Amino acid sequence: MTPRAVLISGAGIAGPTLAYWLARHGFRPTVVEHAQGLRSSGSPVDVRGPAVSAAEQMGIMPQLRAAGTEVTELCFVDDSGRRVGRIPMQTMGDSVELPRFDLATILFEAAREEAEFLFGDSIATLHQDAGGVDVTFEHAPPRRFDLVIGADGLHSRTRRLTFGPESAYVQHLGVWVATMPVDDLGLDRHKVLLHNAPGRAVALHPGRGKAMAAFMYRGPGDEGFDHRNTADHKRRLIAAYIGAGWHVPELLQRVGDVDDLYFDSVSQVRLDRWSIGRVALLGDAASCVSLFGAGSTLAMAGASTLAEALAATPADHEGAFRRYEREHRRLVAPKQRAVRQATALLIPTSRFSIAARNAATRLWPLASGVQPIRRALRRRRATSPDQEVPK
Ligand SMILES: Cc1cc2nc3c(=O)[nH]c(=O)nc-3n(C[C@H](O)[C@H](O)[C@H](O)COP(=O)(O)OP(=O)(O)OC[C@H]3O[C@@H](n4cnc5c(N)ncnc54)[C@H](O)[C@@H]3O)c2cc1C
Repeated sequence: MTPRAVLISGAGIAGPTLAYWLARHGFRPTVVEHAQGLRSSGSPVDVRGPAVSAAEQMGIMPQLRAAGTEVTELCFVDDSGRRVGRIPMQTMGDSVELPRFDLATILFEAAREEAEFLFGDSIATLHQDAGGVDVTFEHAPPRRFDLVIGADGLHSRTRRLTFGPESAYVQHLGVWVATMPVDDLGLDRHKVLLHNAPGRAVALHPGRGKAMAAFMYRGPGDEGFDHRNTADHKRRLIAAYIGAGWHVPELLQRVGDVDDLYFDSVSQVRLDRWSIGRVALLGDAASCVSLFGAGSTLAMAGASTLAEALAATPADHEGAFRRYEREHRRLVAPKQRAVRQATALLIPTSRFSIAARNAATRLWPLASGVQPIRRALRRRRATSPDQEVPK
């Protein structure tokens, strides 16, 4: 039988993982990526639980560990940089925290020999019939595929073309996020520093040799937001942080020059179904959890589940899509529910709630001194992908 041709839109985290597994299962994957190459911005992300299993089977755990950060705690600091609270952040078991760009690069390297990659292009139109999907691209000539998978992130074009406008599925969570690289500010490689003003947070992460700043602030959604308009992103970011203390004034000065700014709404994606006919969604396109969740872990785990489902019944893609969705929603749903707690913890809305949060985290070591509680927590964390300190 001719191997089935699958078009994957997006070479972020989910896309290359799926391409790798589909090729291993005898499919012919093509990945189309809008950017000219892999994009470098983005904060450290986690590979945990089910994603670790997928990475082990791909043989990439040594590379992931080598790129892993060495962060062990999140320190809350005041205007003068004094520590006023902390949360331990040791990764559990085999989990790894690494810069998003490194994870994307390692996954791409694993998949590049297995799949065709088209960079600097994008799906323009999709028309499916009983036998396949006719695809036109912005640049490449039209082609026909057996299946199309949208792994093109929060603002998925595949989703828009197949399910309708994103306003129906994307829910802004009242927070905006920006990340950018920063020169070494003499950061301790074990510590993430986080400074709060009411409704605003700024974090400095040492990364792995390449430090990064993250801005998270509360603000309403904006129908007119264009996720590709960097000049507008810079204006929004500077306006949101005017008057903030700590390192913020010097960070804002750098925003104007930085050419590697990631800025987006913190949003969740919720759809009643993840596939229509021969087109299915994966990763953030299907079920974005938000900044604080386990987006990369879920993207990798979902890709491996989808590939296994398709491999089990290659002639019945609809059955495979249903099984993938049923299984993967079990991981996604608790993550989507946990997001509001993380927002309250990291971006308190008043001076009182900042002080209360800091005081609570100072009590944390007392609790961790009780051995039975620690053991019980460790057991729960080892077995449940839901237990984690949010970023
Ligand atoms: C540059 C970048 C930086 C990020 N930084 C952060 C961060 O700091 N913090 C955080 O929590 N999350 C960040 N994310 C999101 C995070 O990577 C995802 O939540 C998670 O990894 C899920 O992976 P995904 O593969 O589903 O989506 P993503 O990792 O977002 O990958 C989607 C891919 O699809 C591509 N794409 C988009 N539109 C099209 C199109 N029309 N045609 C073809 N390709 C398209 C994108 O360029 C991207 O490569 C970032 C994403 C990107 C793209």
